[in-house]
Amino acid sequence: MDQICIKRLEVFARHGVLPEENALGQKFLISAVMYCDTRKAGVSDSLSDSVNYAEVSELIKKSTEGHVFKLLERLAWHLAKKILLSYPQLDGVELEIEKPWAPILLPLEAVSVKITRKWNRAYLSIGSNMGDRRENLLHAVRLLDEDEETRVVRQSAFLETKPVGYTEQDDFLNGALELRTLRSPEGLLDLIGEIEQKLKRERVVHWGPRTIDLDIILYNDEVIQTERLTVPHVEMAGRMFVLAPLCEIAPYAVHPLNGKTVIEMKKELEMGH
Ligand code: ADP
Ligand code: MG
Repeated sequence: MDQICIKRLEVFARHGVLPEENALGQKFLISAVMYCDTRKAGVSDSLSDSVNYAEVSELIKKSTEGHVFKLLERLAWHLAKKILLSYPQLDGVELEIEKPWAPILLPLEAVSVKITRKWNRAYLSIGSNMGDRRENLLHAVRLLDEDEETRVVRQSAFLETKPVGYTEQDDFLNGALELRTLRSPEGLLDLIGEIEQKLKRERVVHWGPRTIDLDIILYNDEVIQTERLTVPHVEMAGRMFVLAPLCEIAPYAVHPLNGKTVIEMKKELEMGH
């Protein structure tokens, strides 16, 4: 991936844990590596096809001076997020903040914090079988897209499906979404939980009726197993209501454990494997 770099931009600001630092201020040196594809600008020679490093430098300076944080970690994430949200053509950014005058009374050149943040690609399965099902799904899509760190970039058609597991309930309307998100997998699960709460999802019967169900199916090519989260979703290969809509928007997305594409898994399920 190509890079556009800003090296050690000097900014005077008041971040720090000590009250003296917040009162007096000190020098910060800020470096940014912006990951993007420069091929278009490489041909057109036009600044509008690239990221203007003068503008980004101004943004860094203003955002660094405009807040007082205790930690460099907090400032680094604040700046990384500002840059990624202001320039959607970037795939990611690496940000380093050096504090050459850190008040620790030992001879050192500088202390620094360096972080890398990038946009992630996640696929969600969404379903509803209560109330106005279509409106519930659309409402969930709107709430996902309204999240500052998340964009819904692709959406399948909604598909009518029969309930699985507990079958004494109405049919479902199911869909699949592709997201571009700065959220971590756990952060995305938190967002999904908030949206399910907002849409007043009922949790009366396991696998029973619900106004909305949102599941993370894939997150980049990551394999995640924690108390709260299993990704890829454990049931994805066995559920037609997940695979059919997903196949519409991402037929060649690959399951990182079995190595199969969505279209392959769907064909195998249709043949009853
Ligand atoms: P289901 O989706 O299986 O019908 P729920 O929506 O009630 O059931 O989810 C129950 C729990 O599953 C959630 O609280 C969540 O922590 C956990 N979970 C594990 N993996 C995932 C995933 N990939 N996506 C969403 N939830 C998950
Ligand atoms: Mg769920």
